[in-house]
Amino acid sequence: MGYLSRKPNSNDPPRSREGLSLWLGDNDVLDETALLLSGSAKRCSDCGRATDIRYLDASNLCPDCR
Ligand SMILES: [Zn+2]
Repeated sequence: MGYLSRKPNSNDPPRSREGLSLWLGDNDVLDETALLLSGSAKRCSDCGRATDIRYLDASNLCPDCR
C-alpha cells in the first residue's frame, strides 16, 4: 500500500491551518482569497476570518463568534 493511497478518515485530527477559520470548508484548490473573490466565502464581521457563506449567519458572524 503506497502512501498516496491513504484516504483521510474521521480519526484524522483536524488539519492545522493557523490563522484560518475552521469554517472555510475543505477546499484544497481554492484558497481563502479565491473563495472571497468568488463570493463563496466572506469575512466574519467579528473576528474577520474568511468563512464559507454556508456557515455565516444573517449578521455575517461565523459559528465561533455567535
Ligand atoms: Zn468570527
